[in-house]
Amino acid sequence: MDQKRAIKLLTDSNALLTGHFMLASGNHSERYIQCALLLSRPDLAVEFLQDIADHFKGDSIDIVAAPAVGGIIVSYEVGRFLGKRTIFLERENGIMSLRRGFGIKEGEKVLIVEDVITTGSSVLEVRDAVLGKGGHVIAFASLVNRSAGRFKPGLPYYFCIDMDIPIYNPDDCPLCQKGTPVVKPGSKGLV
Ligand SMILES: [Zn+2]
Repeated sequence: MDQKRAIKLLTDSNALLTGHFMLASGNHSERYIQCALLLSRPDLAVEFLQDIADHFKGDSIDIVAAPAVGGIIVSYEVGRFLGKRTIFLERENGIMSLRRGFGIKEGEKVLIVEDVITTGSSVLEVRDAVLGKGGHVIAFASLVNRSAGRFKPGLPYYFCIDMDIPIYNPDDCPLCQKGTPVVKPGSKGLV
């Protein structure tokens, strides 16, 4: 996907903010991303979702799977474009599980998708659950890669945009040093 176009769509949907933010971790950053806001604008998000679907068109895939909650819409839309079944997994007693009657048959080929991959822990838990059912994971995909190159699952990984956003310790933050007021976006779990 064209990176300038991706930035414009994220900005137009208010998913990408520029300023001086305090993250849930307590660290500071000059950019903040909330993918749910991109997905709240189907007219803009469609280009990301179509981009992922186009990348995997023609590949042998039976199921598009995602971790809840962030990946559910991504999975549904990519599956819709590819004409494949879509499911999501959610934690039950801390274990990423298939619920709600969702199933994976032995040998089925699974594409795992997510909105943002930072550490990749959720999609790797989905991978383990798929393997536990006898499924084959063929690849990973996300709208945004926030892993700064650290997510290397040993399988193909496709993302629409790589957002390597610098994070500062408040004691060493150039924005603090400039005296810019810091804003708390008020959502946890983004860093
Ligand atoms: Zn700061």
